[in-house]
Amino acid sequence: MSSSADPWRDDAPLRIGISSCLLGSEVRWDGGHKHDRFLSQQLAPFVEWVPVCPEVELGLGTPREPIRLERHGEEIRLRGTKSGEDHTRAMQRFAARRARELGKLELSGYVFKKDSPSCGVERVRIWNAAGMPQKNGQGVFAGAVQQALPDLPIEEEGRLKDPLLRENWIERIFAHRRLTSFLSRRFGVGDLVRFHTAHKLQLLAHSEPLYRELGRLVASARDMPRAELRERYAHLFMRAMAGKATRRRQVNVLQHALGHFRKRLDDASREEVHTVVEDYRQGHVPLIVPITLIRHHVRVLDVEYLAGQVYLEPHPKELMLRNHV
Ligand code: SF4
Repeated sequence: MSSSADPWRDDAPLRIGISSCLLGSEVRWDGGHKHDRFLSQQLAPFVEWVPVCPEVELGLGTPREPIRLERHGEEIRLRGTKSGEDHTRAMQRFAARRARELGKLELSGYVFKKDSPSCGVERVRIWNAAGMPQKNGQGVFAGAVQQALPDLPIEEEGRLKDPLLRENWIERIFAHRRLTSFLSRRFGVGDLVRFHTAHKLQLLAHSEPLYRELGRLVASARDMPRAELRERYAHLFMRAMAGKATRRRQVNVLQHALGHFRKRLDDASREEVHTVVEDYRQGHVPLIVPITLIRHHVRVLDVEYLAGQVYLEPHPKELMLRNHV
């Protein structure tokens, strides 16, 4: 998690919604599962899973007839592939109710099984009358969760195979937890300024325009009713974090961080840091290399502003996520 200066640290596991089959539950239409080892083993010590299989909870049973999304004129229906039995209304009602329930559980994220007509987040096949699929649909349940919890960090397990998307999503779930934990307590404008300041480099790595917009919101916080401030800050913060922290943005942030202590380094150390950042920019070393060197100097030189930056350790080091991006 974040540096020892992180007063928003919360050691309780993060509560994360998940498609049950990804944890190895045999709930798929054919009685199988889609066990994902990264989720069930590496990430598991840091999270409390909330598994949901919408098709089983709807009462379709296991094994069951597979279902699919079909286009009928303007409407998208959820139907059995052989019987044609229409589950659309039932699934929509179930999904809306279950999404409301999940909203009360203070989830910090959700990971869905890709391609499923119930759980897929994007590019789910929709079959037309001629029996041809188009990959532009969304699972009915995933859509209801996304609509009910628009700021929740949601990902598909397939995309989490990409190290950058994985690192970004995990950064977002920990950020979501810190944010909701902070906003759930009474806070003054000074507290918000401190929270925001600690996240500046992290936000900058994801979206510079939204980082600036958040800065303007915090600057006008005194004139705003607290409920409105809470809602607007939370929404903008999570929108900013949804931006991809690309290599180019990371280099920008590393240079920014360096600006806080560059002049205090001797020539050899300055040269070394610049070389390492350049190596990272060119893809020769992973992000953990410049981050580790910067953290070393921050500690030795006691650079207070940077020591408080969540950016330098946004998630548990045991996950080794920055060794692969
Ligand atoms: S993808 Fe969703 S509906 Fe299908 S088995 Fe997995 S949890 Fe159940």
